[in-house]
Amino acid sequence: MQVLVTGGAGYIGSQVIKQLNQQGYETIAYDNLSYGYRESVRWGEFIEGDLADTDKLERVFHEHNICVVMHFAAFISAGESVIDPIKYYQNNVINTLNLIHTMLRCNVNKLIFSSTAAVYGEPKTIPIDENHPLCPINPYGVGKYLVEKTLPVFDKTHGLKCISFRYFNAAGADADGELGEMHDPETHLIPLIFDAVSGKTKDVSIFGDDYNTPDGTCIRDYIHISDLAQAHILGLTRLLNHAESDIFNLGNGAGYSVKEVIDAIKKVTGAEFSVEVAARRAGDTSKLISSSDKAKEILGWKPQYPELEKIVETVWNWKKKAKQIS
Ligand code: UDP
Repeated sequence: MQVLVTGGAGYIGSQVIKQLNQQGYETIAYDNLSYGYRESVRWGEFIEGDLADTDKLERVFHEHNICVVMHFAAFISAGESVIDPIKYYQNNVINTLNLIHTMLRCNVNKLIFSSTAAVYGEPKTIPIDENHPLCPINPYGVGKYLVEKTLPVFDKTHGLKCISFRYFNAAGADADGELGEMHDPETHLIPLIFDAVSGKTKDVSIFGDDYNTPDGTCIRDYIHISDLAQAHILGLTRLLNHAESDIFNLGNGAGYSVKEVIDAIKKVTGAEFSVEVAARRAGDTSKLISSSDKAKEILGWKPQYPELEKIVETVWNWKKKAKQIS
């Protein structure tokens, strides 16, 4: 059973590849290494390639026996998408359509799609379930929303069965300390705080403390990477059992503010570093907290890391193991 994993060298893709291989699937990572790391693909086959290169992609389908595609390859920074929207639409929308078009030409009609909680925009009700209105406020969210809207069309015309997962904030490192979150440039909160812990950066900036939240900083729902990966394998099993297309939130159902994340990391690491309040970052919603009851009920998903401190501990252990910190 071969699974094509686009973006397989990235933070989430590489973790999913690890778990897929542990569970007996064969994987082919397809990644242009624009942001991913070759050394993160430690299981299965690796092919360096771009989704814009549809000839190469088509060859990959012809040379393998791929039955499902997991599509992680995408740009992921909501803030950057406000500054450079074309970059986001080009890769996250047009290249996704390239992938779907190639899949369908090659008679592969099962897809797991990485969507995002950013499709919801500013929440009208908390927790946010899958029926919450979709009103994205940044091009990153709009791009994922546009793809989500095309999927039922391909289901009708070509029988494309797709499970879309709307991620809240992926976080943490795997329990073996083998894989963790690293982006270059780094824009995500938890890795940036760890940069301050290690002394790589001088301080941490809080992007706005005047939001309508109890301490004024933005609230996010952090979900551990291994839990996210597990949900993908459950989704894959479901697709292989001929399920209909569906959409699931993946989050913990608990919200933590930026200040609470900083405090949790200070507590776990014992590190001291300075924290400054900076201007709001364009494209940020004040609060995103999921209801993931649907994934629990329908997929039988059981997240193992409901607490932020436990998530942070996995990052700390990974950093120490990788000697990124002493
Ligand atoms: N954030 C922050 N300082 C930073 C990086 C992020 O205050 O140096 C905030 C950001 O404004 C957001 C939250 O932390 O409210 C999570 O941001 P991240 O980029 O990690 O994920 P996002 O929610 O944008 O996907």
